[in-house]
Amino acid sequence: MNKKITIAIDGYSSTGKSTIAKQLAHQLGYVYVDSGAMYRAMTLFSMQHGYISSNHFDVVSLINNLDNAHLEFIYNHSLGFGEMYLNKVNVEKTIRTLEVSNYVSKVSATPEVRKKLVTIQKEMGKHKAVVMDGRDIGTVVFTDAELKIFMTSTAETRAQRRFDELIQKGEQVSYKDVYTNVVERDSLDTTRKDSPLVKADDAIEIDNSHLTKEKQFEIILKLVEEKLRDV
Ligand code: C5P
Repeated sequence: MNKKITIAIDGYSSTGKSTIAKQLAHQLGYVYVDSGAMYRAMTLFSMQHGYISSNHFDVVSLINNLDNAHLEFIYNHSLGFGEMYLNKVNVEKTIRTLEVSNYVSKVSATPEVRKKLVTIQKEMGKHKAVVMDGRDIGTVVFTDAELKIFMTSTAETRAQRRFDELIQKGEQVSYKDVYTNVVERDSLDTTRKDSPLVKADDAIEIDNSHLTKEKQFEIILKLVEEKLRDV
């Protein structure tokens, strides 16, 4: 099948957007882009240069030095997706820590950061055949995406999933800290002025609180097949 569409997957943090996006990209032979990884890499860049730390955010220095942050995804054949590189260094693991999660929503609320990343994202998707997940993909980055999914689930379910993931990776975190981060990020991401997280009018909402990964994949793949039939 050679038909190419754009699939935008948005939703709250830790709803499993990247899992489903990767599965779909793999199934369809499309490119998968984790836009959250890009915001996380910009956050790591801000931490490395001392622009952000607890109780301190020097947004002016970040904006003045945006051109010094070079981001790229390099495909890892054994993993089957592109890993995030910041200034030629693989940061895929570092950007997933709770410390980065605690700062990322402040960095991502900066309009100049968003402008830089959205430009790159649009370029990556210009030939379609892309599955991108994030917060503003259906509302800002690809407003004309053929399929838009909006994922939700309860904060408790999401915090538990994220907690399990971090523990599995060997991070020393408490469930309470992870839960607080999930709720705080939801609040900052939905209330920021520039591109807040909101369901696009034409997005299909999927609450996966009580869905297995297999069932969820089956439901979304059916939606994709319907769209592919229409185009
Ligand atoms: O998807 P993930 O949880 O890794 O995203 C990390 C953070 O990056 C989000 O909490 C949000 O602040 C920001 N983000 C964004 N817009 C996107 C993707 C992520 O603002 N398209």
